[in-house]
Amino acid sequence: MEKKQFQAESKRLLEMMINSIYTQKEIFLRELISNASDAIDKIYYKALTDENLVFDKDNYYIKVVADKVNRTLTIRDTGIGMTKEDLENHLGVIAKSGSLAFKSENEAKDGHNIIGQFGVGFYSAFMVADVVTVISKALGSDTAYKWESTGADGYTIEPAEKDSVGTDIILKIKENTEEESYDEFLEQYRLKSIIKKYSDFIRYPIKMDVTGSRPKEGSDSEFEDYVEEQRVNSMVPIWRKNKSELTDEDYENFYQEKHYGFDKPLKHIHISADGAVVYQAILFIPENIPFDYYSKEYEKGLELYANGVLIMNKCADLLPDYFSFVKGMVDSESLSLNISREMLQHDRQLKLIAKNIASKIKNQLQTMQKNEREKYEQFFKSFGRQLKFGIYSDFGANKDMLQDLLLFYTSKEKKLVTLDEYVSRMPEEQKYIYYATGESIERIDKLPQTELVAEKGYEILYFTEDIDEFAIKMIQSYKEKEFKSVSSGDLGIEADDSQNNADAQNEENKELFAYMAEQLAGKVKSVKASKRLRSHPVCLSAEGEVTIEMEKILNAMPN
Ligand code: ADP
Ligand code: MG
Repeated sequence: MEKKQFQAESKRLLEMMINSIYTQKEIFLRELISNASDAIDKIYYKALTDENLVFDKDNYYIKVVADKVNRTLTIRDTGIGMTKEDLENHLGVIAKSGSLAFKSENEAKDGHNIIGQFGVGFYSAFMVADVVTVISKALGSDTAYKWESTGADGYTIEPAEKDSVGTDIILKIKENTEEESYDEFLEQYRLKSIIKKYSDFIRYPIKMDVTGSRPKEGSDSEFEDYVEEQRVNSMVPIWRKNKSELTDEDYENFYQEKHYGFDKPLKHIHISADGAVVYQAILFIPENIPFDYYSKEYEKGLELYANGVLIMNKCADLLPDYFSFVKGMVDSESLSLNISREMLQHDRQLKLIAKNIASKIKNQLQTMQKNEREKYEQFFKSFGRQLKFGIYSDFGANKDMLQDLLLFYTSKEKKLVTLDEYVSRMPEEQKYIYYATGESIERIDKLPQTELVAEKGYEILYFTEDIDEFAIKMIQSYKEKEFKSVSSGDLGIEADDSQNNADAQNEENKELFAYMAEQLAGKVKSVKASKRLRSHPVCLSAEGEVTIEMEKILNAMPN
C-alpha cells in the first residue's frame, strides 16, 4: 500500500500545532465532537433541500467509546461521512477545511451553524494519540474507506468495511510518560467531564456506555456490573431557552453552576441578538465586589462559545474595562471555532458583539437606576468607582457611555442623585453645576467655600472619592452646563455690591495683605478680601484649572 506524504506546509503546521497552539490536551475531544456535530449538521442541511432524504432526529448521534484493554478511544458519528477524495483533501491537507467549503457552497441554505472552518482541529488528535484511524462511509456511497496516520510522516488510505453512513475516529491513546499522563483519556468519568465542560450544548446527543453496579437479582448482598448507554450532554443550553420559560432561580443556579461568584447575582441580562450579528448571552452583575476585584490578579472576561462549543474561558475582548465586573457567557453562530487569542482579537464579529454587549449592559443599568433605585445604589456602591475610572481613562472617550450612570451625594437632598436629576432642577439663572471636594460628607458640610453657593439656593454635588474630580474634568460639561468647584476663584455668582466691597477692602488693606502674603510665602500665592464668605473668617481658593483637592492627590502620587 502506498504511503502518501502530507504536504510540506502541513507537516510543519502539524508539528507546530501539536507542540504549541493547544495548551490543553483535553480539547482534542472538543474538536472531534465538533467535527462530528458538523457532519450531522451537513446531513440536516442536505435534507432541507433533498426530498429523498428525511432527517429523523433519533437516528443522529455521536458516541464516545473508551476501550482500556486496547487503549483506544473511538468517536463515532452518524453524520455525512467522507468519500475517498474527502479523506485525501480534508484530512491530508492541514488548514484546508471541508466545512468552510461546504459553507460557501451552501450559503443560501443557512449553513452558518457549522462550527468548523479553520481546518486544523482534527489534528489535535495527535496530541493524545500515536495512531489515528478514520473509517468513514459517505452518504450515497457504497464503499467505506480507512484513513490512517501516525502523525507527521504521512497517511494511508484503503477500502474498509462499514455498514452505516458516518465516521469512526479511532485514537490509539499514547502510553503514559514520566511527564505526561494519557490514561485519563480512557477513563469514563474523565471523558464525561470533558464532554460536559466543552460540549454540553452540542445539539445532538453525545452518548457513552456507562458502567454501573446494581444488586444481583434475587440477592441482597451480591452486586453485578451492568453497562448502560447514557446521554452525557444536556443539549439545550439555558441561553437558547426563551426568557419567559426561565425564573430568577434558573439564572441564579446557572450563576452558581458556572462558578461566576460565591454571591448571588444582583441582576441578570439575557440577550438574544438577531440583527447584524447573531448571538445569545447571559450576563450577570454580581451582588458583591469580587474579593480580588480592585487588585492586579482580577481577570475580566466572558466565556465564549462558538455555536454551543466553549472556545474560551475568559474572553477579555468582550468587555470594556469599565464593565469588567460583569460575569457571564456569550454564544455566537457567527464565530468560527478559532484557536488562538490573537486571531480572536481581530475578529470583526467579536468586535461587533462586544460593542453590542456594552450598550446592552448600559441600558440595563439605566433601567435599574430608574426603576430599582435601591438596587442601583447597591450596585453603584460596589462598582461606581470603576465607572468613574472608565470616564477618566482613555481621555474621556467613554464619557457619553458612562456619565448618565454616575451618582453623587448632594447638599440639597442629602442623598445620591444623577447628573440629569441635578440639571433638571437647576434654577434658570444658575450657570454652573457646583461641586465641593472633601474627605467626607461631614467635612464638606463644614467647608466655608460652600456657603455662598448654598445661600443662593444652588445644589452642590459632594465629591468624596479621589477619582471624582478627575472624572468630572473629563466630562467638562453636562447638558451644556459646565462643572465648577466651589473653591474655584470665580464662582460666577458674586453679587455686584460684594464685588465693590471686596475691591474697596483690597485697596484699603493693601499693606496688611501684602505682609500676610510675605509671611505665608510658598504656601499661598496671594491674600485677598473674599467675595464669598458669610460666616467663616477665611478660606482657601484655587485660581487655575487644578483645584486644591486635585493638587493634593497629584502631589501624593509617585513621580
Ligand atoms: P474544520 O473543522 O475547522 O474544518 P478540522 O481539521 O477539524 O477542520 O476538520 C477538517 C475537515 O475534515 C472538516 O472540515 C471536514 O470536512 C472533515 N471532517 C473531519 N471530521 C469529520 C467527520 N467526523 N465527518 C465528516 N467530515 C469530517
Ligand atoms: Mg473541526
